[in-house]
Amino acid sequence: MNKPKSKWIRIENTHEAIIDEETFKKVQIAMKERTKAIKTTGIIHNFSGKVFCKECGRYMRKKNSSKHEYLVCSNNRDGYDDCENKASIRYDELERIVLDAINKKIKAYYDEEILEQEKSKNNQNRFTSKIKSLEHQKKEILKKKEKTNNYLKSLYEDKVNGIINNEQFKELINNYNTEEARYNNRIKAIDEEINYYKAKKETLETNKMLFSKYEQLESLNRIIIEEFIDKIYISKINTETNTRNIQIK
Ligand SMILES: [Zn+2]
Repeated sequence: MNKPKSKWIRIENTHEAIIDEETFKKVQIAMKERTKAIKTTGIIHNFSGKVFCKECGRYMRKKNSSKHEYLVCSNNRDGYDDCENKASIRYDELERIVLDAINKKIKAYYDEEILEQEKSKNNQNRFTSKIKSLEHQKKEILKKKEKTNNYLKSLYEDKVNGIINNEQFKELINNYNTEEARYNNRIKAIDEEINYYKAKKETLETNKMLFSKYEQLESLNRIIIEEFIDKIYISKINTETNTRNIQIK
């Protein structure tokens, strides 16, 4: 039935999301940055909105020659010759540098994870056997508890049959209660310990799954840059050493 918009009722989160909220937000921001880049420079490229001049803080704009693409401080346009960071940087050069830097980071984490996995294999076995032994202990205690329960029944019988008097009965019941409480406390402690080791085992398994997605990157694209890089700063060339600093955040 068609209804006017004023009569619509809107209820959020009734369907399972196709992508999670965080990814959705990231993409929204990325799309906004893209359109911004189109408006100001007319060009969308991988590093759009990410590369800045270390000297004056302005963005590095893209400049093309017949052979190569470059980035140069946007404060260096004709008539705005204010920034001392005059030299451009080749676009493919910067891509190579950034790709290397990202891969180095991934490798550092990846190696760490391989070590961690080896360690966790052992840990996992340790946790499993620990849980097993605790479950065995619990079983033994339950057996003992069962026995004292039977003892309680025979105690009643003895009292009914006049084998023990009231005084003796009271004392034996007291003993029984203390023992029962001790068993219950022990079982509670064991249950807590079992849960602790189970949680540890689970955490290890999730970690392993998370880290296995990391691999060496072959090339850069906008999504990778969006994921890994906040900003890149290009310094002016040091004329003595003929080098320049590139800061990747
Ligand atoms: Zn500059």
